[in-house]
Amino acid sequence: MPLPSATTRLIALLGDPVAHSLSPTFQNAALRAAGLDGVYVALRSDADAFAALLHGIAAAGGAGNVTLPHKERAAHLVHCPTDAVRRTGACNTFWLHKGRLHGDNTDVHGVASAVSALLGQPAHGARVLLLGAGGAARAALCALLDQGVAEVVIHNRTPARAAELVRAFEGANAKLSLLNRPERLAASPFDLIVNATSLGLRAGDALPLPADLALRAGAGLDLVYAPNETAWVRHLRGRGIPAADGLEMLLRQGAAAFERWWDCAAPLEAMRAALPPRL
Ligand code: NAP
Repeated sequence: MPLPSATTRLIALLGDPVAHSLSPTFQNAALRAAGLDGVYVALRSDADAFAALLHGIAAAGGAGNVTLPHKERAAHLVHCPTDAVRRTGACNTFWLHKGRLHGDNTDVHGVASAVSALLGQPAHGARVLLLGAGGAARAALCALLDQGVAEVVIHNRTPARAAELVRAFEGANAKLSLLNRPERLAASPFDLIVNATSLGLRAGDALPLPADLALRAGAGLDLVYAPNETAWVRHLRGRGIPAADGLEMLLRQGAAAFERWWDCAAPLEAMRAALPPRL
């Protein structure tokens, strides 16, 4: 990557907070590996500044990512949303093409890639337990439906939010159901359990499912990531269940975003090598 100059293209992460983000680390590594004249920065943007920043960066030929709390707002600001943006109501990637502001939600791609990496194949025909009903759960549900799962059981702390998620995907080509009390799942077999709650972000968080629940699971994917993986991933592995945290999803959503901005394949291994080593 040449040093920034008058021709350097600005790629920015817009959100609040952004200081913890790993995206600048692996996106700048990708730019270096691909020899592209761009720079990736994280800009903390409050609600007032967000729309002006997004439009201004795009107008200057730049592009970017959007993170909490602006993904839903970004979905309304882009002129050309992808199908993933329409179905999730959220946009995490923007760029300008022929004067039009395009938006994608590459979290959907990120979840699908992480699921395929964990299972060794897409979750076609699988029975899945999805924990959570926020933006990440919505992206995960889209990815799972795209992979042709047979059934998704959704559990969320606030049941009304889970019911809303099921309603939003009414007519999907899979059986969707709600579960209010996880104890009822004892001995239920699932091919895959996905944690899309934010539990695991903070040290001392409860596990997303009671530790003593006698669930039978083929594999567990945590969308949350932590330096030493999450407690839930370690818990599943301890029971002999293959599990992965959200780092692969983060990397894969970033690789898909890179491809939207630069119209060339992302140097995935250079991006992976730039991530901090796992403890
Ligand atoms: P969100 O929209 O705020 O949703 C948070 C979800 O977590 C909701 O289902 C919420 O339940 C649940 N939750 C929060 N605190 C809880 C608690 N104490 N007990 C039980 N459930 C709780 O956030 P989001 O955008 O969906 O993101 C969720 C997580 O996914 C994030 O924390 C992030 O770590 C992860 N994520 C990872 C990636 C990646 O690239 N790996 C990308 C996006 C997100 P209620 O509905 O009851 O509040």
